[in-house]
Amino acid sequence: MSGFVPVRINQFVKQYLRNNTDADGDTVRAAVEDALAAWRQGVRCACGNALWVAGSAVAGYGCFRCITGTAEPDGDPEIDAACEGFFFDADNTEDRFAQVSEIIKKHPRDYRERLEEAGFEWQEDEYDLLFEEEGREERAAVPETDNQRRLIRFLDAGGPVSRQILDAYLEERYSETSNVPLIRKYFKRANPNLKAILLKGLAGNPTDLDLLDDLSYFSEFDCMLGELIHFYTDACLKESDMERFSLLAQDFHLNTFDQGYDALHELTTLFQSGTKGAVVQHLSETIDDFEGAEDIPF
Ligand SMILES: [Zn+2]
Repeated sequence: MSGFVPVRINQFVKQYLRNNTDADGDTVRAAVEDALAAWRQGVRCACGNALWVAGSAVAGYGCFRCITGTAEPDGDPEIDAACEGFFFDADNTEDRFAQVSEIIKKHPRDYRERLEEAGFEWQEDEYDLLFEEEGREERAAVPETDNQRRLIRFLDAGGPVSRQILDAYLEERYSETSNVPLIRKYFKRANPNLKAILLKGLAGNPTDLDLLDDLSYFSEFDCMLGELIHFYTDACLKESDMERFSLLAQDFHLNTFDQGYDALHELTTLFQSGTKGAVVQHLSETIDDFEGAEDIPF
């Protein structure tokens, strides 16, 4: 591995103090923040290269080469905010906020992950704040419409999933004014009645991308990887529209990969030829590229 390893300021200071026991934490932190501010303002090394923020904090402004005498970093730390492409462009706050709010609007349930995919990295305290805020929203959430009341009554009491209940869920899911924290609470508790609704929906419409996505979210709070794989595989077998098949295969991959499953590999085995085989082949190639790009150290 070569290149920089992005580290948070906190991590960097902690690590530095471990190796330099006589250094003062506040001084080191201030020096890092100063070097980062200089980097943001476009200050460069005397040789013209960009500053190495982590090194500049302890050795004075300079690029990696001038500070270390080594041509290329090789696993050396760099402050994450100064890792190009890792953070949103800090100079362009407006764009950054527009991007963040767009993502939150489109993915109200899993925006944290989506933001991370887009290169946003949470500071630990931001993450805690957000988690607390979500919890507060969920505790305060109460049903506000007849539809929500019907749905919550079922989620709390259970019973057979009627068409009416499934419709109530779908109406809430696609509503512009959906009560997201109210429903999210039941996802987080892995509520079995909620799962029954999702399974009922999938029984009638096994290739529904949104319901499968919901089931994936549910599975984050429940141990059911095998079941999820079964539903996605079944959907991939049944779907005849190639565009939708491609979306299914991508979701299958994204929603199971973190749990250690290689959906594209399994699909390659399942569809060895034909149009579906070609779609899977193409996805394996492009998604591998994407993951390769993510691995490049900054
Ligand atoms: Zn230099």
